[in-house]
Amino acid sequence: MKEISEGVYFIPGQDEMIPDSHMYVLGKISSGDISLVDAGLMGKGGYKIESVQGLGIDLSDIKRVIMTHTHFDHIGCLPEILDVIPHAQLWLHRNEAEPLEHGDERTVYGMEMFQDMSHAQYGTKAGTFCFEADCKLEGGETLEIGDMSWEVLFVPGHSLGGIAFYNRPGKILIPGDVIYADYAIGRFDLHGASGPQLKQSLLALAELEVDTLLPGHNHIMEKVPVGYIRETAEQWGPYLT
Ligand SMILES: [Zn+2]
Ligand SMILES: [Zn+2]
Repeated sequence: MKEISEGVYFIPGQDEMIPDSHMYVLGKISSGDISLVDAGLMGKGGYKIESVQGLGIDLSDIKRVIMTHTHFDHIGCLPEILDVIPHAQLWLHRNEAEPLEHGDERTVYGMEMFQDMSHAQYGTKAGTFCFEADCKLEGGETLEIGDMSWEVLFVPGHSLGGIAFYNRPGKILIPGDVIYADYAIGRFDLHGASGPQLKQSLLALAELEVDTLLPGHNHIMEKVPVGYIRETAEQWGPYLT
């Protein structure tokens, strides 16, 4: 784990055959109002919780888990985490909250092959990922949490209800799986994905001034070159039709 800046902490995913998403911990520790962004793969809940505790955070200060989106490499260990901190709220975009509330797991698994694999390898069952959302985000909100301010951007395309979080004063962007380091972008072939929407989302993120990019997987970028997101969008544009 690593402190990116005061109130922003990085807990790297521990990839196996399937990737484990990174978790970001948001909120100044003195505020007693801590948010976790994304959980991770099945089986990684213990590691993530221990890492949060390693930051000196009292588990009772964790007020919510906010999901960039609900693919199983991000939501897989949410049940494990909520077992340890049942008081935490669950915040996510409406487009992915509503299916989850109805037990519709198509977005979680993305395709049938992944569902079959998860059931076989991790012992998940139909209905493992059925949650009530405490807050359904739309995009456009500004969250005043943990003595910080995070703008919520609706960035569909990789999934139906992807959201990104932007801290304008620190120029920090958490884009979920929309864009990564090394000019990579999220896949756009899973349930609810759309190439043209992903392109629009990339172009919307390209409008932001970003110094620090904290994606869902792989490297983080602490000195983002000017124009990086726009260049990435332009390189991928021909495929996003
Ligand atoms: Zn994803
Ligand atoms: Zn992911």
